Amino acid sequence: MTVTVDKARCTGCTVCVQSCPSDVLRMKASKAHVAYPESCTDCFTCELDCTREALKVVPGTILARRNDKRKTIEEVFLWHTTA
Ligand code: SF4
Ligand code: SF4
Repeated sequence: MTVTVDKARCTGCTVCVQSCPSDVLRMKASKAHVAYPESCTDCFTCELDCTREALKVVPGTILARRNDKRKTIEEVFLWHTTA
């Protein structure tokens, strides 16, 4: 999963559900819920739109999915700077 929701911070405003371009998020018990994590493209729209800072996108996992490897953005950066 690349996105996490801090339920204690979430007010249930639904802004993130509406703004996600990949239709990843849903409402569940009046809180944002990551319903389809496999569809997330790590675009950060939800994190930027949430005024409560309730959403956190973990970058780098899109590369892992795309390449079917466990490389994170940090590992790729290190590989480029040390190669
Ligand atoms: S934008 Fe933030 S506060 Fe609103 S539903 Fe999403 S996570 Fe909750
Ligand atoms: S990072 Fe982008 S694709 Fe992923 S849940 Fe947030 S808005 Fe949707």
